[in-house]
Amino acid sequence: MRVKLSKTFHFEAAHDLPTFPDGHKCRRLHGHSFRFDVVVKGDVDPKKGYLIDYGDIKKAAEPIIKQLDHYYLNEIEGLNNPTSEILAKWLWDKLKPALPLLTTITVYETCTSRCDYSGE
Ligand SMILES: [Zn+2]
Repeated sequence: MRVKLSKTFHFEAAHDLPTFPDGHKCRRLHGHSFRFDVVVKGDVDPKKGYLIDYGDIKKAAEPIIKQLDHYYLNEIEGLNNPTSEILAKWLWDKLKPALPLLTTITVYETCTSRCDYSGE
């Protein structure tokens, strides 16, 4: 029995997007209430009846959220151009070693705009 589990996290941060065209609103310093989903995939252990403890996802994500929450993302190593796409890969690279079953990171920059990254 193969399943996907998702856990959702939130943080607040500022950024600007230096590769957008001159005059574009995203070039200006602004903030978001970011959300991201961590999705793991694998086979349920028939004896246990679960894939992994959601708490293990939380343990992996919490130190990373501390690096992001209420910071200016452009100043963080690897995020000098913090688009949703680059942020999704950055999160993937940080989480994958602790979560080998990681299959997708979804970054929500707003309620209606999101980016999925699956390691390719
Ligand atoms: Zn933005």
